[in-house]
Amino acid sequence: MIIDTHAHVTGPMEMYEYFRGYTNVSGPASRGLTRFPISDDRLEESLRDHLAEVAGVGTDLQLIVARPWAIPTAERRAALVMNITRQLNDMIAQCVKLHPDRFVGLGSLPQCFTLKPADAAEEMDRCVNDLGFIGFKINPDPGEGGTELPDMGNDYWYPIYEKLVELDTPALIHGGPFRFSREPELGYFCQEETVAGWALLRSPNVFREFPGLKLIIGHGGGYIPYQYGRARAFRLNERQRGDASFREPFETTLRRLYFDTVLFDQEALELMFKVCGVERCLFGSDKPANGSVVDPRTGRSLNDVKPLIDAIPWLTEADRRAIYEGNARDVYSRLEARL
Ligand SMILES: [Zn+2]
Repeated sequence: MIIDTHAHVTGPMEMYEYFRGYTNVSGPASRGLTRFPISDDRLEESLRDHLAEVAGVGTDLQLIVARPWAIPTAERRAALVMNITRQLNDMIAQCVKLHPDRFVGLGSLPQCFTLKPADAAEEMDRCVNDLGFIGFKINPDPGEGGTELPDMGNDYWYPIYEKLVELDTPALIHGGPFRFSREPELGYFCQEETVAGWALLRSPNVFREFPGLKLIIGHGGGYIPYQYGRARAFRLNERQRGDASFREPFETTLRRLYFDTVLFDQEALELMFKVCGVERCLFGSDKPANGSVVDPRTGRSLNDVKPLIDAIPWLTEADRRAIYEGNARDVYSRLEARL
């Protein structure tokens, strides 16, 4: 079975037009946001190309979540962000209901500068208990690069970690909307995912406080695997200075995180598997998205990741099974009940 743990569904674009009509105005007009109705027929129509593309590469099951840009994190009115997040999660649940053999849901968190991590708890409960979701996506920088929010090693984030552990749900750390042209999407996503990952790896406390916490760094862990050597140097220096907070080798800390295979290059995938460990890597394709573009070298979409993994000669059959299916089943504890 091929389980794709990193995928987004857009849904009908007119829904976003409706939301923008409220988030782009000030004053009383912003208070009337009601549920945007999506008929099953309209949702099916919006899913047609997505389903065809995913079936075309042999993926059996996708863990789907709203698009990273869908939560309006620049908005300051917390009630609006909360409302839109709920509607997006409901749209994902509607997709799962229409295609239970193809989709499993992940929840988005209500995040913006005026919402604190504890404010997400109620929606997280609803996602798992009412909508049947098995995990979440966390935006590590809801300030969109423009505000100084604590990094993910800080106890600012602990209410979300507590809830994740309580619900036994993993979370995919994934960049969100951005405002600054010096960091467009290509750089911004990987940058903020890397910043989040380093902060978690550097903190001696997060995994001590939450040993059951399961966090996946999206897009191949950002730049983390590539910069692994320098990270080891930092840790060795800390240990040799006798800093009691950092007793464990960096290799051990690194294996407290998980990573996905949203890298569209065989050599990059090989590096991640070697550095991070096959047992920490989950298959993900981010399909469909901009990686759906056809690679002139191969004639396949760049986000057709499985042939890249199949071509790695040193992976065993057991390794491939773990990447495609086994690790996802282990990490997403609630997945088994949905299969
Ligand atoms: Zn993504």
